[in-house]
Amino acid sequence: MPQVTAYACDDETTHFHPLTITVREPGPTEVLFDVKYAGICHSDIHTARSEWRQATYPLVPGHEIAGIVTKIGSQVTKFAVGDKIGVGCMVDSCRVCGYCKDGTEQFCDGPGGTLWTYGPDRNGAPTAGGYAKAFTVDQDFGLHIPEAIDFSAAAPLMCAGITTYSPLHHWGAGPGKKVAIVGLGGLGHVAVQIAAAMGAEVSVISRTLAKQDDGLRLGASHYYAMSEPGTASALRGSFDLILTTVSGSTDLDPIIGMLTVGGVLVDVGLPEHASTLHMSGLTHGARILAGSLIGGIAETQEMLDFCADHDIAPIVEVIGGEDITAAYDKVVASKVRYRYVIDTSTF
Ligand code: NAP
Ligand code: ZN
Ligand code: ZN
Repeated sequence: MPQVTAYACDDETTHFHPLTITVREPGPTEVLFDVKYAGICHSDIHTARSEWRQATYPLVPGHEIAGIVTKIGSQVTKFAVGDKIGVGCMVDSCRVCGYCKDGTEQFCDGPGGTLWTYGPDRNGAPTAGGYAKAFTVDQDFGLHIPEAIDFSAAAPLMCAGITTYSPLHHWGAGPGKKVAIVGLGGLGHVAVQIAAAMGAEVSVISRTLAKQDDGLRLGASHYYAMSEPGTASALRGSFDLILTTVSGSTDLDPIIGMLTVGGVLVDVGLPEHASTLHMSGLTHGARILAGSLIGGIAETQEMLDFCADHDIAPIVEVIGGEDITAAYDKVVASKVRYRYVIDTSTF
């Protein structure tokens, strides 16, 4: 079995260091690939810092993975050696439950449920994610990366792309719709591009005006800062759809107040601590509060093809393995512009 270098942390202080891991040989339906790029999602940070639940260490995170196939199993038809391949947040599911059959494998409730890209495997043994030089995955959970998308920029689409595309698509972002994206981070800056490409009139709601030029360049028509006095009241009743991508807990009331009657707030953020809201913000306007979790495999491929067709790509800062520790702090401090992507050739 191949032994490769990965980057791991040993506890919630998230100091990353090289670690040799074993990657399994591909089974009949699996492909082995060289990881070239791995994005740093804020969910990696929540996980590695045990903010959601106690993590198992050493931990090798990474669920925004882009690589090149090096070996395929005897029954593999979806990929050939030399193909580009992407892997997102999940690597297996039961395939037969209603959710799997509907293409929402992230909600699999069959035997074993959804298998996430890193963390315990079906037997409880730790598995490594994409901060590693190689990865083995079942062909059904690999994505084709279109040639039109820059390879390093493709990695973050595997999570940030699908997590924003899916709810924007589901809730009808498009011509005639006023859509606001809250938080201009890794997810938010992709969401702005996708919502604009879908034809919606897009606004960004950030904490400050620091990223205004970027937001407008990415396709937003308007940019607002909660730090500016009167923002929440000026925007009351303005948006048909609001997508919140905020990584910290917040008071949702001012944001809910910005919805039209019947408007929808989709919150995909997963902060460590609870956010707050008053039900009256929803009742007095028959508004809808929704969540969304990544997206299924078929929809992820649809998103990648949509991004290729509309010239959409994350803005990335490519870093080496030794930079991961500092990068985590910079993401938490909102200093990243807009996604760190690890180049595994530095390992
Ligand atoms: P990120 O790059 O750190 O961006 C988060 C943005 O939220 C920041 O850029 C900032 O935007 C805003 N923000 C941060 N702290 C805030 C606070 N205390 N109050 C208000 N705004 C704050 O993170 P990300 O990778 O985009 O991920 C965002 C969240 O989505 C994380 O919680 C992550 O775990 C979650 N997530 C969920 C899914 C899913 O399937 N539901 C998938 C992936 C990620 P401004 O500077 O513009 O204010
Ligand atoms: Zn993610
Ligand atoms: Zn299933």
